Amino acid sequence: MSDKKRFNGLFILFLITVMCGCATVSRRPRISADKEAYLKDICEQNNIDWQWDQVSQVATLQYRGANAKVLSGSDIVMIGDDRVTLSAPARTVRSSVIVPIDFQSKVVSRLYQEAGGARQYVLAKIRSIAIDAGHGGKDPGAIGRSGLQEKGVVLDICQRLKKLLQQRGFEVKLTREDDTFISLAERTEMASRSNVDLFISVHANASPARSLYGVEVYSAEELGFVDRIETQRKMNEDLMFGNLSIDRNASDVKRIVSDMLYEHKQAESGALAGRISQTASKLIKTKNLGAKTERFYVLRNTLVPAILVEIGFLSNPKEEKLMETSSYRQEIAQSLAEGISDYANGK
Ligand SMILES: [Zn+2]
Repeated sequence: MSDKKRFNGLFILFLITVMCGCATVSRRPRISADKEAYLKDICEQNNIDWQWDQVSQVATLQYRGANAKVLSGSDIVMIGDDRVTLSAPARTVRSSVIVPIDFQSKVVSRLYQEAGGARQYVLAKIRSIAIDAGHGGKDPGAIGRSGLQEKGVVLDICQRLKKLLQQRGFEVKLTREDDTFISLAERTEMASRSNVDLFISVHANASPARSLYGVEVYSAEELGFVDRIETQRKMNEDLMFGNLSIDRNASDVKRIVSDMLYEHKQAESGALAGRISQTASKLIKTKNLGAKTERFYVLRNTLVPAILVEIGFLSNPKEEKLMETSSYRQEIAQSLAEGISDYANGK
């Protein structure tokens, strides 16, 4: 095609676009607001510049030097060189571009990350870790046949784990250093206030089935709307945002960072849980009961990647005996340190 013809073609398309645009100003196609949104609205709400190329059917979004390309009819969005998949294709109806609702969490938050907004924070290498020894004080946790108490076993393992991780260069914070009772809320507040990159809660299991043994690791299951606005979670967000370099008055920025942290946390926690259950069960030579998801309080109210490790069953006579020994506790601590540092170093 000659340049002149191309120009004429583009000009005609431009005219059609303008005319269609005018015709649809007052009458937008109907969408179901809980599933879809207008790209134009999303961009305006988030201060994103955008251009629509009628010929290629590509919308180019720009925010502080970062850009994303949205192709009508495709569920793929390119953010810089990275590919993001939406839950449904973007579509065009009477020159309005309509995108699925996860566009906000998948594309907008990534654009903000790329632009540097919260990138440093979220993608920062893991430097500091909160280790949470379960139970304590008036709450003994599970109790074995011999009287061995979960709170003592896990505190000892956590102290060993702390030393091992410090030797590997991590900053470590224990939610409790001794046999004191600390509420679950306080544990999550500590993790949010102290700006840690990872939260690991350590427990020992119990089951009426005394033959049951092995390691299992939990991450938070997908949170519903009510969980996402849980008072403690909101309080923890405020504690955490106090440490972030974001405009604390910009509620939309907060919301985006909050969504972004959540997406990051869910993805990373699941991966970490799988990794730890594998490494730990292998190194301490016990059964891998796998990575699971649960609504545990300390998992759903922490904002950074978080897992809860059940290191063995106090109700199982063999594992109870092992957990009495300092050598087994050291092995457990070593296996956890190994799994955590592999993950932290991106291995
Ligand atoms: Zn426990």
